[in-house]
Amino acid sequence: MQAVARLLRSVPDAPADPADPPSASVGGADGRTTVGGAAAGSGTVRARSRPIRPLVQAWPALVDLVLPALCAGCAAPDRRWCSECAADLAAHTLARPRHTQPSPPRPDLPPVVTAGVYAGALRTALVQLKDGGRADLREHLAPLLAAALRGSPRPPGLLVVPMPSSAAAVRRRGEAPVEALARAAVALLPAAGRPRVVAALQVTRRVADQSELGIAARSANVAGAYAARSRRVSGLAGRPVVLVDDVLTTGATLAEGTRAVRAAGGRVLGAAVVAATARRRSAG
Ligand SMILES: [Zn+2]
Repeated sequence: MQAVARLLRSVPDAPADPADPPSASVGGADGRTTVGGAAAGSGTVRARSRPIRPLVQAWPALVDLVLPALCAGCAAPDRRWCSECAADLAAHTLARPRHTQPSPPRPDLPPVVTAGVYAGALRTALVQLKDGGRADLREHLAPLLAAALRGSPRPPGLLVVPMPSSAAAVRRRGEAPVEALARAAVALLPAAGRPRVVAALQVTRRVADQSELGIAARSANVAGAYAARSRRVSGLAGRPVVLVDDVLTTGATLAEGTRAVRAAGGRVLGAAVVAATARRRSAG
């Protein structure tokens, strides 16, 4: 089962461009060469994916052959995302995306728009997408991120910049899940004026898993940990940017992303997330 899970993660879920060059590590980057823009397709190139690319289009059938289809939310058989979990995900999706803030609020965050509440099946789906190797859930989550982007500023020339994954995380997961989600979400926006996704940020030092840390530790963990990829610095200068991430919790990650984009000359207008943790309710 573990071997199958590893195999699952090692195969890209989107058809790759045969013209893609082999993966090359560039200047201490993470070995995953990505290029912004619609022409980049999935934009993800990995060294081990090439020999098995012919399998990709037959992948769903192959998965069902070697692995019984289990719901990623509740492990019910025969469906990879069952109707009950789909209904629960919908129940945690806001009727309209709305602005949100972490608790406590952070003055160094741009306005953040969320499409859902990080709980129930929506939380499970995000965790499974990111750490469970369930890239198939992207089709259920991309529409939420697209909705959050529709509720965010979209001036001409807008760049959508995903929060980066560490090189180690990309190797472990086989992809940068937030970047892949951002590309899927932007593809759902109207073609006219569609923003460009640019993986402009990189993780510049080792960081711990934010989900295992408290509020203060999260800020310290990511402070100064992101920077614009050097060859893209000029691409950010003066450009309007909306950051995207899967979840808003303390805001530490998005605040660090904001700092890094601004350091490269970009103008951060906002951030869009799939879900935000529920804020502590105050009376009234
Ligand atoms: Zn289910």
